[in-house]
Amino acid sequence: MRKNIVAGNWKMNMTIPEGENLINEILKESISNQTILIVAPPYPNLVTTSLLLKNSKIKLAAQNCADKDKGAFTGEVSASMIKSTGAEYVILGHSERRAYYNETDQIINSKIKLALKAGLKTIVCCGEVLSERESNKHFDVVSKQLKGMFDGITPTDFENIIIAYEPVWAIGTGKTATSDQAQEMHKFIRENIKSAYGNEIAENTSILYGGSCKPSNAKELFNNADVDGGLIGGASLVAKEFIEIAKSF
Ligand code: PEP
Repeated sequence: MRKNIVAGNWKMNMTIPEGENLINEILKESISNQTILIVAPPYPNLVTTSLLLKNSKIKLAAQNCADKDKGAFTGEVSASMIKSTGAEYVILGHSERRAYYNETDQIINSKIKLALKAGLKTIVCCGEVLSERESNKHFDVVSKQLKGMFDGITPTDFENIIIAYEPVWAIGTGKTATSDQAQEMHKFIRENIKSAYGNEIAENTSILYGGSCKPSNAKELFNNADVDGGLIGGASLVAKEFIEIAKSF
């Protein structure tokens, strides 16, 4: 059965000491064994965070990895380097990577393959921008993203893939998708996986919602049959809010 997951994407926030404080605050709280809690700090914080989380059930993720294995790619961080910090997960294809760093589905596809090869689990993002939703193209957009990102990905690979649906118009805007909009798209994504990989894999894949998810709306969103948790930006920077969201199942 698929897992309930709440993952906190810190983005480019938190120095190492600030990150340590946040992790120590999160560690004071307890959450159900049925929920997997993941934190995704910036690269420089991965090792210190990994050490702090050593005896806890909280999992560690990076926010990105390179689309190359190794070598002369100044400033890049490879999937195997991430794995060596103790991180188990990596977020890939976030809309901010697509918008500001020109990541295409093809680049994300290469990253997914390298991350899986390095032994990481991937949290793969998809979602439409406002103009695409307003022109009723959101299903086509998401379906094209899934097809491109998962090109050549096998059924076995899917055991290590989590999907995050993040309508771009809801990220950091305070505008959340309604519970019905989230459920409708999550169901559509699960049907896409079912057509490509079969019912069992589709039923076992966790699909997270992301986009201004907060303690006040998490319950309603997570209550939907196909919403298995959240990818949380802003609210993951405040321990109490992040934990309250994780307790919303
Ligand atoms: C995100 O960027 O993944 C996100 C969901 O951000 P926020 O919760 O701040 O909208």
